[in-house]
Amino acid sequence: WRDKLFGGLKRTSEKLGTNLTSVFTKAALDEQTLDEIEEALIVSDLGPAMALRIRDRLAEGKFNKVLTEEYIREIIAEEIEKVLTPVARPLEFRAARPQVILVIGVNGSGKTTTIAKLAKRFQEQGRSVMLAAGDTFRAAAIGQLKVWAERIGVPIVAGKEGGDAAGLAFEAVRQATEQNIDILIVDTAGRLQNRSELMDELAKIRRVLGRLDPASPHDVVLVLDATTGNNALSQIEVFKEVAQVTGLVMTKLDGTARGGMLVAAAEKYGLPIHAIGVGETIDDLRPFDPADMAKAIAG
Ligand code: GDP
Repeated sequence: WRDKLFGGLKRTSEKLGTNLTSVFTKAALDEQTLDEIEEALIVSDLGPAMALRIRDRLAEGKFNKVLTEEYIREIIAEEIEKVLTPVARPLEFRAARPQVILVIGVNGSGKTTTIAKLAKRFQEQGRSVMLAAGDTFRAAAIGQLKVWAERIGVPIVAGKEGGDAAGLAFEAVRQATEQNIDILIVDTAGRLQNRSELMDELAKIRRVLGRLDPASPHDVVLVLDATTGNNALSQIEVFKEVAQVTGLVMTKLDGTARGGMLVAAAEKYGLPIHAIGVGETIDDLRPFDPADMAKAIAG
């Protein structure tokens, strides 16, 4: 899977290399070269703050010394790792029973697949899991989640298309409590097109869950497609506003992922990154490893 991650981020590291080409051929590090490096890092989506930090690092005592591509990439990787390390945090198991994990994100981000992957992982860790098909707007989403539930052998609470998502979440908690389930994962609709409806719906789900347990939902996990770059960044903004996001899962890091976005997201929002998706199968969910990620991005 590490190959998949490094393969997925190849475009990011190559683009960084292309942007830095003129620098790599220079022998010494002067002000002008530092400017060029900073610009190259900014256009590689790493964000201005990160670009400036790397510039400062390189400037430290390195003037008039030979600068190798390897050394520059090493410094970039080190700085990226520093930003990613504090946000690398797996989902915690909580004492609450059931622990309710609300999963949010736009359609197509990989929400359904991620729910199945998480469920399988929790099962492997000895937890009992139940799913709730709360994306009641898409019949396909309900159907797909049912297929996953059957495949991994976990119970699922599902209603009809167009049903009330908050009512379904309430029923799911009731059943999970009755069956002594450890973790309940609730899917939600991801229609960003109608922000006020989405906001109302998520608020209603929260209200209903909170009535059963004031701390519920215990986790609100936003699923983001890493291939969408800055689009994913603006999704964080929107979802932070409509739901109280507690953490992220980044998907499709095996694809043509835009790694710079991940760094910019970590820097700007500081939200925990619980795991990453590196493929379409059930076992393609991995812990978020800052050192690996930094190396994959820096190349
Ligand atoms: P949803 O609409 O957000 O529920 O998204 P789905 O879970 O249906 O996923 C949308 C598409 O992305 C499907 O074809 C998935 O197989 C695919 N997908 C999900 N996660 C990943 C991942 O980590 N890597 C790759 N390559 N594809 C993924």
